[in-house]
Amino acid sequence: MFEPLPQYPDHLALEEEILAWWDAEHVFDRLRERNRGGPRFSFMDGPITANNPMGAHHCWGRTLKDVFQRYKALQGHELRYQNGFDCQGLWVEVGAERELGLNSKREIEEYGLAEFAERCKERVAKYAEIITLQSRRLGMWMDWENDYYTFSDTNIDYIWRFLKVCHERGWLYKGHRSVEWCPRCGTSLSQHELINSYAELTHPSLYVRFPLKGRAGESLVVWTTTPWTLPANVAAAVKPDAEYGLTDGGEWWAVERKPVATFTKRVRGEELVGLEYDGPFDSLPAQAGVVHRVIPWDDVALTEGTGIVHIAPGCGAEDFELSRVHDLPVLMPINEAGNFYKDYGEFEGRSTQDVEGPVVVELERRGLLVEAGSIVHRYPICWRCSTPLVFRIADDWMISAQEIRQPMLDANATVKWTPDFYSKRMDDWLRNMGDWNISRRRYFGLPLPFYPCDSCGQLTVVGSLAELRERATGGLDQLQELHRPWIDEVPIRCNCGAELRRVPEVGDAWLDAGIVPFSTLGWQSPEWQEHGYATGAAAGLTGADLPDHAYREQWYPADWVSEMREQIRLWFYSQCFMSVTLTGKSPYRAVLTYEKLLDEHGREMHRSWGNAIDAAEALENIGADVIRFMFCEHVPSQNLKFGYGPAAEIRRRLLTFWNSVKFFVDYANVAGFRPGADAPGELQALDRWLLERTEQLVAEMTDAYEGYWTPALIRAFDSFVDDLSNWYIRRSRRRFWNGDEVALWSLWHALVRAVQVVAPVMPFLADFLWRRLRAADAADSVFLAAWPEPSARDEGLLQEVAEVRRVVELGRQARGDASIKLRQPLRRLVVQGAGPAQRHADEIAEELRVKEVEFGPVEALEVRVKPNLPLLGPKLGKELGAVRAALEAGDFEQLAGGGVRVNGHELGAEEVLIERRPREGWALAEDEAVTVAVTTELDDELRLEGRVLDLIHRLNSMRKDAGLALTDRIRVTLPASHADLLQHVEWIKEEVLATEIATDSVSEPEIELQGSDPKGSDPQQ
Ligand SMILES: [Zn+2]
Ligand SMILES: [Zn+2]
Repeated sequence: MFEPLPQYPDHLALEEEILAWWDAEHVFDRLRERNRGGPRFSFMDGPITANNPMGAHHCWGRTLKDVFQRYKALQGHELRYQNGFDCQGLWVEVGAERELGLNSKREIEEYGLAEFAERCKERVAKYAEIITLQSRRLGMWMDWENDYYTFSDTNIDYIWRFLKVCHERGWLYKGHRSVEWCPRCGTSLSQHELINSYAELTHPSLYVRFPLKGRAGESLVVWTTTPWTLPANVAAAVKPDAEYGLTDGGEWWAVERKPVATFTKRVRGEELVGLEYDGPFDSLPAQAGVVHRVIPWDDVALTEGTGIVHIAPGCGAEDFELSRVHDLPVLMPINEAGNFYKDYGEFEGRSTQDVEGPVVVELERRGLLVEAGSIVHRYPICWRCSTPLVFRIADDWMISAQEIRQPMLDANATVKWTPDFYSKRMDDWLRNMGDWNISRRRYFGLPLPFYPCDSCGQLTVVGSLAELRERATGGLDQLQELHRPWIDEVPIRCNCGAELRRVPEVGDAWLDAGIVPFSTLGWQSPEWQEHGYATGAAAGLTGADLPDHAYREQWYPADWVSEMREQIRLWFYSQCFMSVTLTGKSPYRAVLTYEKLLDEHGREMHRSWGNAIDAAEALENIGADVIRFMFCEHVPSQNLKFGYGPAAEIRRRLLTFWNSVKFFVDYANVAGFRPGADAPGELQALDRWLLERTEQLVAEMTDAYEGYWTPALIRAFDSFVDDLSNWYIRRSRRRFWNGDEVALWSLWHALVRAVQVVAPVMPFLADFLWRRLRAADAADSVFLAAWPEPSARDEGLLQEVAEVRRVVELGRQARGDASIKLRQPLRRLVVQGAGPAQRHADEIAEELRVKEVEFGPVEALEVRVKPNLPLLGPKLGKELGAVRAALEAGDFEQLAGGGVRVNGHELGAEEVLIERRPREGWALAEDEAVTVAVTTELDDELRLEGRVLDLIHRLNSMRKDAGLALTDRIRVTLPASHADLLQHVEWIKEEVLATEIATDSVSEPEIELQGSDPKGSDPQQ
């Protein structure tokens, strides 16, 4: 007895049931045990930031990871299953700040760094737990007890080693440079943090006069959208080879920027160079001693502004570069929080935005303002907190990318990317990457192990925790973990003898994630340390070991990684940078990457727009299998539209497969069928085809998994389900009614195989069905059964039936176009092309309800050719009339290439208009290779049969509505008007399982239950 299936699957309930069953039966543990010692498949998980619950987009990557891990495990591979959490750096800090209601670095410092670190750690622990629950609900099998946490001391220790290597190679330097700065977060941003982080913002647009010294009445006019930078002005730049003019109002402009003005004087820009002017805020203490002058700059744009650019080297990257060339003073007006320093007079303590008004008022008062307006432009904002960025001069720690660039490109050339064009994207990023800005002026992050010495000028980079202990001059007893504030209390001894303190900066979080192929695998670790990774802040959160180096040799590089495309400039990059630096090779052999998740209407998801769907909501409402199916079906190089509409559509499609299984279970139970390894009798042609078709499915799915290409998985599965349901089951229905064991076995075999190969995609539904279908001696979970080996296939047979299905599809289309319903039998069908289908003419006849099927040229097709007059008129001149008449009479010959020969002329395809249509009395459909035509004329015999089929359909609907069982027999009463149908009484009886059919004085057909037969047929299907 197979456990019966309900009419419809309750995905949510069955997923919960399977989850509980997997746990209770330790299915995952048993799978790992079974595969221990098998061939290794090394997957390296990119860490998810443990800072929030999962969003729907996280389910995408996690689905792909789980699908391929499950597949490899089914193939017998041993896997590590280590999940990773990203735990420190600005994301977590900003999250903790919000939770605590802190809004500046000062407030964090007042709160206390030790307390703040504890809050960050609590936050990580909390969200790691939530993410774990959500991932498990999604069906993700990972070693959840042994996750890696990037804030562990071990992880930090490994990054220190990497930084020391960089220092030894001379790549590490402290860059005094202009950087984009978030005043709220109080830190600079690196190049990879800036991409795509822009907003349309409105800023002031000011035209300001700089009076020239010694030239009474003459002023330079500059344009700026950042009024706050004017107090730090030190120079004005002109384009040396551009033409500048003095207006009659005494203003210097680039001529090109003032086309309607009358100029009293015109000079080349170089003639203005060296002139001195009065700065706009000369009275500020900060401006004391600054001589403002005009400098040359080839890059001055003449497409906006005045052609004269205000230069404030402390407030812009290009300005800063110019200050080096022209030896300009660098005034830095704002501090880390974006507020003005003390020597900026009335602006002191105010933010860049707050001074906009006062700057304008002051310029106005002194007659320096030419014009004030506003401008909307694309402006960079902080990707974490959306605060508009400003430029500051900062000393950031940088790793030079120059020497590593080519080796990284070489390493990337060894990587197989899916989709493959992303390889080039990675190359582009590598070619253009700047030096890596690794420092952040923050608190809860990787402590940079840099110890500069004022006495001897050397920089000591501590390369490990062991080295720190060795060199420490104190503070070790309070060093609970490698985080601030504790690490800052450990001074070390310089080689020169001086006592050194650590720099205050922490590191870029991508160092944390990039090191994991080393830290989690025990690179250069002399021995295996149990729980050796669960150190520092990670102690108590995980049981992860620190393996030894021999183990690492077996698992590095990763066979496969998968993250979203954005990670090209983030994790794929940082991991590659660190791996190429330390080992000279790529940390991964293959990458699967994917685009962005949008809402179902194609808009980005935003909580504030009300269209965001988080993972919890999606899992509770859609269920894991449908979500996974949706992600797998999607072509990863395109953005995915995610929502309830697409999910409902998938649920509807999955119902076809469900119905096939249910159909089998119901009939197998009626027949008392027990599955065995081999068919219980001789296979019929259709059974043999189904077996071949099943082999084909296994092969196609296996290929798709091997190629990391999930859309092909779904295509193969869908097409198989269609063949199974709409061909095999439909064509074999009568055999199932009769309890044919060979048909039952064939169907059972096909269903079991389909469940097996789709299991990685829909693990819950697959195991649910497997448990109902499996033979008594088979594994209790589909994930403990071996992957089916694809065997040689009879391609000829597959081809034949594929052609048959094509003919039937076209035949249905032809009937549909002629508005003839399928229940109406027709006389004759002609098929042109589809030669391999010829052996199946009987099946085609039955499927399409036609009496005769013929293979040969379709003469029912009429080809009409008309002249393309605009072209042919001029070409043929007075012969056009005769040609047209010949075409109309059908007196032409068609030529290869689409042209025709007519009246001695050869006309090209573009010179004629060809129309193909069925002749009178025929319906027709064609694709590129096959044409199917069917006669549409009806005679009395056909009409009568059509009515019989209508009646059968109607009676079976009545059975269904009455809730009759598959085997119930009925008695039928028909109105007298139906008496002529009784010519086919035996046919009707068989189709509706009737014992008796009579006519009486009823107005509509009636049915009545007559008792049941244990081995009956199923008129309901
Ligand atoms: Zn920020
Ligand atoms: Zn020293």
